[in-house]
Amino acid sequence: MPTRGIYLFDVARFPVFLDTGGLIFIGLILLLQMGGGGMVGILGAFLWIVAIYGSILAHELGHAVVGRRLGYGSADIVLSFFGGVAIWSGRTSRSRRDQLLVTLAGPAVNVVLCIFFLLLKTFPPPFISLLVPSLRGLIDDLYWINLMLAAFNILPIFPLDGGQALRTALAYRIRGSRLVRISLQVSFATLGLVMLYAVSTSHIFLVFILAQIAFQNWQEWQQVRR
Ligand SMILES: [Zn+2]
Repeated sequence: MPTRGIYLFDVARFPVFLDTGGLIFIGLILLLQMGGGGMVGILGAFLWIVAIYGSILAHELGHAVVGRRLGYGSADIVLSFFGGVAIWSGRTSRSRRDQLLVTLAGPAVNVVLCIFFLLLKTFPPPFISLLVPSLRGLIDDLYWINLMLAAFNILPIFPLDGGQALRTALAYRIRGSRLVRISLQVSFATLGLVMLYAVSTSHIFLVFILAQIAFQNWQEWQQVRR
């Protein structure tokens, strides 16, 4: 059973946890943002953490709510290092259509939120001008965070949502180890391209996350390459 970490609260009857990776990520943000100094640094770091984990939680709730509607049972939501996961308690071997709907529901929530915050910053309602600058800046942050979460998760990289959706969609045509091999080849090619981007733009967090995923992919490749 995967470790869930610290229990935080319930949302829509789903228990939410924060694991060690999540604690490390929050620690890193605090360290980086506090460099700004004083109360502004602390407030900025706090708002960033709320914006990032709020958006990740919304993504996981997308999976969890659609899954519960389709009879997957309940899920524990675990917030981890710049990401999260919904761990199902019930049976998850459903039809491919249901699997695709549950997988795509997560990024779909980020797309909706991204459009919402884009509209909010493009056509700001009058009360926005009354907000303190850091709260106004938060709208811009939430737009970018949700754009990034949607774009990153929909990449055909396994085990991201895009990689899982590709594997489920390919399963209509291909079976067994060939299915896994082809989806891993697509995953490696995409990882290579995104890694080039991450290295050339010095996105260290992204390099770290991609390297971790590449290692997982390599382990799975070793099992199916013959
Ligand atoms: Zn997801």
